[in-house]
Amino acid sequence: MYRANIARLAVDEGADEEQRGASEVTRTVTVRSEQLPRRTFKVFVELEGMYRNMVEQLVLYAVDNNITKFTRLKAERYREVRSLYPQLPSHYAYTACQDAAERSHSFLKLRRTGRTRKPHPEVRGVSIWLDDHLWRAEGLTSVSLATHRGRVRVSIEINRHILRYVNRGWRLSSEAKVKLDHRERRLIFYLTFRKEVSVYRPKDYITVDVNENAEAVLIDGIVYLFETGLSRVTLGYYYRRKSVQEKYDRVYGPGSRPARRIFRRLGSNEKALKRDIRWKLAALIVREAAKRQAAIVLERLGREPANHMIERIRNPQLRHRIFQAAFKGVQRAIEEKAREYGVPVIYVNPKNTSRKCPIHGAKIVYGKDRHGTCSKGGETWHRDVVACYNLLLRALGGNGGHAPSRVRALTPIDGGPVPLGPTAAHEPTPIARGAWARWKSLGATNKHKQMRTNT
Ligand SMILES: [Zn+2]
Repeated sequence: MYRANIARLAVDEGADEEQRGASEVTRTVTVRSEQLPRRTFKVFVELEGMYRNMVEQLVLYAVDNNITKFTRLKAERYREVRSLYPQLPSHYAYTACQDAAERSHSFLKLRRTGRTRKPHPEVRGVSIWLDDHLWRAEGLTSVSLATHRGRVRVSIEINRHILRYVNRGWRLSSEAKVKLDHRERRLIFYLTFRKEVSVYRPKDYITVDVNENAEAVLIDGIVYLFETGLSRVTLGYYYRRKSVQEKYDRVYGPGSRPARRIFRRLGSNEKALKRDIRWKLAALIVREAAKRQAAIVLERLGREPANHMIERIRNPQLRHRIFQAAFKGVQRAIEEKAREYGVPVIYVNPKNTSRKCPIHGAKIVYGKDRHGTCSKGGETWHRDVVACYNLLLRALGGNGGHAPSRVRALTPIDGGPVPLGPTAAHEPTPIARGAWARWKSLGATNKHKQMRTNT
């Protein structure tokens, strides 16, 4: 299964590499082992116990001595933890130092910013960090691990995520993590794939205006309105949780166990659905950009959910969640996908992007339904179309050094200036989620449109 949060950690490493000149993208893929015999699994339970103990001791020491760097922690404590378990391959002491240094680093940061008052972090979930001495892949079907009982080989369940990366020329990296699934007696491997990607010089721009329930995307002079319904998803789950809470609080009292169980399930369903929506759409947009060698233009978002689209939502927590899912989350998905394909991303100032006419620079007066009239030219505009064109203009203005030649910004037609030619461009082409979610590319979009006009 794809784990976006882990992937993000890994991608951040990729960003470091980029600054050093080479641009490398990393992705983490999880894969399960087959169910292990009790005796084999016991070896890993013992290993996990020893590893956890090492990490716990190292984290205590690191936090007490304000250590966040692996090199320093290793210099000061490696011998000590190494001697705890002489039967264990020495590299576990090494990776435990890496693991502990990272835990200490994030804990000290939390404490510094006042987000925790605890004296020490808890070492709860343990994934054992592996390096090239501790594991190796044997073909695509099994993994061999070094343990205190010698090398143990386990078969893995190959999945389509792995095949996807292997088939597309990603390299399997030597660092990996393994976690124990005690209930099912399986190992869960987190494998890292790497790929060198060079970002191209844009020949064109694709602008993306994100709003709470749709993304407007300007491609080849047409504004597509991809419905996401992200804020509706957030609100829907919010109200379901609320009604569950009211019902269960009446029966079992507040904070009961059955209510918590339902909350957990609702929470993970909500997360998975949102993630699916964001990734699919990001992939669609980024593939179109790569095809055209275009840069993607996004609004630069602030940290706080001050977006005017969600001001009407009073509950600050809910507002924050909608902002995270519908604005931040969407952008993050596009950024990550873009990095994978070497697509450049450009950020522009979002101020007033839907208020000013892209042709006349005059104010647009909006009525009730996202349609407005230019106060100078009198032409009609759809809010999302305005935003997309203004993003394009800002990208062209701020990046004049190598402005793409293929972009025809504003072309006069029939005497009156009309953005990018066809009059239809004033109106976006809305596409429901159920439709675009099945597409691999916009080619399908055009066919779909033709079908609609023919019938
Ligand atoms: Zn105008």
